[in-house]
Amino acid sequence: MKTLIIGGGIAGSTLAYALRRYGHDAIVAEARGKHHDTGGAFLYLAPNGVNALHAIGLGDVPSAAGGFVASGMDFHNAGGRRIADLDGSNDLERFGARGVVVRRARLHAELAERAQAVGATFLFDAHLVELRTHPRGVEAVFADGQTLTADAVIGADGIWSTVRRLTWPDAPRPAYNGIVDCGSWTEVDLPDTARQQMYFGHRAFFGYTVKDRVAYWFTNVPRRDEPARGQLEDLDQDDWMASIRRLHEQDPAPIRAILDAARHSLGAWPLYDMPALDSWHTDRICLVGDAAHAVSPSTGQGASLAIEDAAVLAHWMQQKTDPRAVFECFTADRKVRAEKIVRFGRQIGARKVSSTAGNLFRDLTLGMFLRMGGKATAEQYGYQYGYRVPDQPPRASISDPSAPDV
Ligand SMILES: Cc1cc2nc3c(=O)[nH]c(=O)nc-3n(C[C@H](O)[C@H](O)[C@H](O)COP(=O)(O)OP(=O)(O)OC[C@H]3O[C@@H](n4cnc5c(N)ncnc54)[C@H](O)[C@@H]3O)c2cc1C
Repeated sequence: MKTLIIGGGIAGSTLAYALRRYGHDAIVAEARGKHHDTGGAFLYLAPNGVNALHAIGLGDVPSAAGGFVASGMDFHNAGGRRIADLDGSNDLERFGARGVVVRRARLHAELAERAQAVGATFLFDAHLVELRTHPRGVEAVFADGQTLTADAVIGADGIWSTVRRLTWPDAPRPAYNGIVDCGSWTEVDLPDTARQQMYFGHRAFFGYTVKDRVAYWFTNVPRRDEPARGQLEDLDQDDWMASIRRLHEQDPAPIRAILDAARHSLGAWPLYDMPALDSWHTDRICLVGDAAHAVSPSTGQGASLAIEDAAVLAHWMQQKTDPRAVFECFTADRKVRAEKIVRFGRQIGARKVSSTAGNLFRDLTLGMFLRMGGKATAEQYGYQYGYRVPDQPPRASISDPSAPDV
């Protein structure tokens, strides 16, 4: 099967790598230039995402990309009191891996390099604009007029997927979550945090992790109206950071210390998720990653789901030769799980906004909500699909004292 992957982000690069390891050809068409920074700040790769990387032989990618272990979370109220926690100390034993914080651009770059190192072809500056389906294949047309024909096209082109729009013009568009996220990493005089620290602040939610005197922080700014696309690019950083400091001026000391030290944020991102699609595939075209099921970043699951998708789709491409049969098996494995996490993320996002609106009972109800969230998180982290690229060394046993952290 000649496969053309549109988008060389997390899902596309991981899929290209896995296909090559199975001995298939993989061509990736990526709209960005070869050396273009993929943007974003950092992300949390959950244990299930780390496990999926291991399953296809990329288990060392998080550390190669400079990631560090951050298992578990402490949740605090606006007064700084710890109101709940997710204990991550046993994640390795429970789930087979620990979560990792990693800079997004470095993870992207590492995955793309690994895919190219095993022979995947990457075409950069290749912006898909049209798809023409013929009885024997799909022709992809790019903005520069170039065309490519393949047996199957995989839409790994992210939340604003062109493949989705061209193939299902009536599909719902991404739904705005009422939050603008911003964040960065900043040198601080604070001790390392073993767990991620989350605060339901007076007016906005704030999260951070400190490693080696660098705070990886983000804040969720509630904003009812959806910003126009591009409206939050090129913000005046002084004005923007001043508004973020004002937003958190009554919040606990570590938040204020981090924001005082921060000179800029790496961006301001309106948060979206994808309403459920009727279908993810046709006879020859299939969506993966954010294009199919973007989840709110509040779940910390988007990248992990994209990697799981890639591992599962590569597995079925190895098992079957007819694209439609591959896509049916893939969808049967993935759709229910991904859409459940989308719904979960929507609930968390709504909770983040409402719990910073001065609700008197919030501490009580938050505790209950977080306990329910803990159960859902265990289900997400514990995902096992058992597909493994052959000829990979087995993962270090969890009882092996020399086992790597991640
Ligand atoms: C602020 C923020 C914080 C986040 N935090 C987390 C987190 O903590 N944990 C987590 O797991 N996830 C997080 N995510 C989500 C995570 O980044 C995504 O789920 C993940 O990147 C999805 O991977 P993907 O490959 O599907 O899409 P992407 O990584 O977006 O890749 C899509 C690729 O397709 C390319 N492309 C787009 N259109 C075209 C076209 N027409 N032609 C060719 N190429 C095209 C793009 O250039 C891009 O390289 C966060 C997202 C945001 C916005």
